[in-house]
Amino acid sequence: MSLKACVIGAGPNGLAAAIVLAQAGLQVDVLEAEPTPGGAARTLELTLPGFRHDFGSAVFPLGAGSPFFSSLPLSNHGLEWIHSPAALAHPLDDGTAVLLQRDLKETRDSLGIDGAAWDKLMSPFVEHWSEFAPEILRPVSFVPRHPWLMARFGMVALQSAQAVAQRFRDPRTRALFAGLAAHSFLSLDEPLSAAFAIMMAVPAHAVGWPIPRGGAQAITNALCGFLSTFGSNVSTSSPVRSLAALPNYDLFLCDLTPRQLVKVGGERLSETYKRRLQSYRYGAGVFKVDYALNSPIPWKATDCLRAATVHLGGSFEEIAASEKAVRNGQHADHPFVLLAQPSLFDSSRAPAAKHTAWAYCHVPNGSKVDMLEKLENQIERFAPGFRDCILARRVFSPADLESMDANLVGGDIGGGVMDLRQFLFRPTMRRYATSARDVYICSSSTPPGGGVHGMCGYHAAKMALSRLSKLT
Ligand SMILES: Cc1cc2nc3c(=O)[nH]c(=O)nc-3n(C[C@H](O)[C@H](O)[C@H](O)COP(=O)(O)OP(=O)(O)OC[C@H]3O[C@@H](n4cnc5c(N)ncnc54)[C@H](O)[C@@H]3O)c2cc1C
Repeated sequence: MSLKACVIGAGPNGLAAAIVLAQAGLQVDVLEAEPTPGGAARTLELTLPGFRHDFGSAVFPLGAGSPFFSSLPLSNHGLEWIHSPAALAHPLDDGTAVLLQRDLKETRDSLGIDGAAWDKLMSPFVEHWSEFAPEILRPVSFVPRHPWLMARFGMVALQSAQAVAQRFRDPRTRALFAGLAAHSFLSLDEPLSAAFAIMMAVPAHAVGWPIPRGGAQAITNALCGFLSTFGSNVSTSSPVRSLAALPNYDLFLCDLTPRQLVKVGGERLSETYKRRLQSYRYGAGVFKVDYALNSPIPWKATDCLRAATVHLGGSFEEIAASEKAVRNGQHADHPFVLLAQPSLFDSSRAPAAKHTAWAYCHVPNGSKVDMLEKLENQIERFAPGFRDCILARRVFSPADLESMDANLVGGDIGGGVMDLRQFLFRPTMRRYATSARDVYICSSSTPPGGGVHGMCGYHAAKMALSRLSKLT
């Protein structure tokens, strides 16, 4: 008789876990609270009819570079990656923009005096991407499969972005590096913040920063489509309130963050383990705005029209100040803004000649402060007249985000702070395992953390299967 597993939550990690279990021959049921699967990988009409916005994730370096996703026939299930001519644009006050090109040599040439230093920092990992990606997208191992490569990475990764940026002499390159490091939600003078800059830049050169045709939902639909070939489907509008209320399963894989696991797992989990989960720390939140626009964004630096992603924050020092404020529980006056403009490269996102934009800035966890004016001031700074292009907008406070995906606790989009402790032991020393032998956690609160790559779900399901095989 085949074994049965229940996956709670149909985010990218829940779906990845479900696929691994189904591939191993288990009968898998996926229960999802929301009416649409995908979690923070969903595309919805959030403003006006015909304007399709990514509710959460929008740009997918780690999705395209995920060893697990790459092993699946997702293109047969409708997933098509679109690459903008440049991966990323970072405009500056002089009306120009620094571009992160997919081609490392082109980036090296365009960065002038810093080209050689950029190349020296990135090329070992870009050239060995197929070895590097599985290493960084799994739990930290003290015995890595590629010790030299990982030792080299560790030497830079453990430093702060501020320390590593000293290698660059041109403030433009330092600004570019700051924007990449700010994806960490850490202060740029904190250890590990450099790791994020490298983990964002290296895939840009190795696999690009693509967007899926049709939006993030296309990734989810492809995962669901492939899962359905095993006879497994996602039951939507099916919130799980307690594991005890579910029928008998051999395994439970929870695409939940620690706080929810405590609630749902309740009596199944030991008191000590629950205490450990309760001491897990969530990170800063985001304040997000989706725009329906009647034209492309009027960037001063027209190079910005070449990239699906734009980082708005100016110099290294300004971005560092913005991120430090948030890390200290404050709101930045000039927040670092991450912006995506997918409709420039994917006409399916908006009606003819119209456009969409997606933008967010970091705020303290659970913030109730309205950051709209400050966020739009940053866009106007580099694109005067932006406000005149707005047909409609939809604003998401951290609480609004959490109301549409319970894993976004206090607006935290990364499943918990990624400082040194939670990088090593995420969410506890047991990682995917819990105190209950048949219950596993597989969300971005486990290694390797946030991002749409499915690797948390993949590793959690592999661990569950290997332990199950020892028991049966
Ligand atoms: C605004 C925003 C921007 C982002 N930008 C990017 C980006 O550009 N690129 C990128 O790679 N990543 C980005 N991310 C991060 C990325 O989306 C997440 O790291 C990723 O979705 C995590 O996947 P997950 O499966 O762990 O969790 P989620 O995607 O959050 O999915 C969890 C699922 O579990 C469901 N659930 C929760 N509780 C229950 C319950 N009790 N019962 C049943 N179901 C339940 C939720 O409804 C949800 O569907 C962004 C996220 C957000 C919110």
